[in-house]
Amino acid sequence: MTNYNVGLYFTDEYYEYNFGNTHPLRPLRLELTYSLIKKLGLLENKLLHVFKPRHCTEEELTRVHSPNYVQVIQKLSVDPNDTSVRPYSYGLGPGDNPIFKGMYESSTLICGASLQAAEKVFLDEEYPITFNPAGGLHHAMRNHASGFCIFNDIGVAIAHLKTLKEDIKIAYLDIDCHHGDGVQWMFYDDPNVLTISYHEDGRYLFPGTGTIEETGKNSGAGFSINFPLQRWTTDKIFLNLFRGTFPKILETYQPDILISQLGVDTHHLDPLTQMGLSLSVYPDIAQTIKTTAKEYAYNRWLALGGGGYLMSVVPRAWALFLAKMLDVELENKLPEEWYQEFKNKVPFEKAPFYLWDRADEIQRKMLADPEIAQKMVEHRNTLIKICEEKYIPAIISHR
Ligand SMILES: [Zn+2]
Repeated sequence: MTNYNVGLYFTDEYYEYNFGNTHPLRPLRLELTYSLIKKLGLLENKLLHVFKPRHCTEEELTRVHSPNYVQVIQKLSVDPNDTSVRPYSYGLGPGDNPIFKGMYESSTLICGASLQAAEKVFLDEEYPITFNPAGGLHHAMRNHASGFCIFNDIGVAIAHLKTLKEDIKIAYLDIDCHHGDGVQWMFYDDPNVLTISYHEDGRYLFPGTGTIEETGKNSGAGFSINFPLQRWTTDKIFLNLFRGTFPKILETYQPDILISQLGVDTHHLDPLTQMGLSLSVYPDIAQTIKTTAKEYAYNRWLALGGGGYLMSVVPRAWALFLAKMLDVELENKLPEEWYQEFKNKVPFEKAPFYLWDRADEIQRKMLADPEIAQKMVEHRNTLIKICEEKYIPAIISHR
């Protein structure tokens, strides 16, 4: 048993970050997550403390976003039909990032939560782990919205940490199925922010970046690391690659803090992606992150949410992550009350029976085609080799 506290930043005001009922990033994901955490009894855990976040200020926002873009969001937030701005040139409009009333306030609340959670982990030894499931908006750029992300809460949190300690070294881990492009580009020339992203190969998936050639520039050369993965990568292959690379990278870099984006759109049933992970692998990933942060990042782990577009998957996945943070072993069953709530609120998806699933179907398919299975093993081995022969030596030589 650990004696450390875990901070959870949560408020139902998060649900106001809402692109509409037919958009994949529904607030319902967070509502059902909180409800499941509660019904699993995790809120009663003595080590868990729930904090209500504050909004970030305009000054905190403009450390990573242009004042012009911030002003555009402020204007549209008051009047979505404001004709004095051209929303399209800022990535806004029908499609991925629809304009909605109150978008400024709902976005600054998420940024404020990640910023506060970062500060808590960095300054308060009693809270080595904090979790903001609403955060992880990793696609937002300095001057425009992208991929359901208006403001980049991760960038805001990183910029805030830099005000707390000038030469702070931050490792950013992104396991979302999509490349963590916004964070990578914001700190591409910064040797004090190491970005590491595991994602579905950009040739098949938005945003298209995240190749092994994107390694940073100027003094940031060597401090951007990417692992593009093949479609339908399985639990075994992913875990093996992750355990064979991530701890070594952190051991070499020795950051002051680890920030992780825990997107769960790598799940095999996710409607927007094509990966082969199951819920049964997330606790193993969580354990590796936790142990690695303890050993190589001064026991400081800021966990953020991210993608995941099945209402049946996101709550279960993040409950599993939180349970691991708290060192709680859960049984593979769902509270009856939550199951009923799910059936009422999500008539458009099949209700799950268990807390976690296994991706047997994917494993079977892979085994049925030895050629595909062989390619996947070879690709994993290649990535491990690139990490050992290119990524790690680059960190050492620029240290
Ligand atoms: Zn994603």
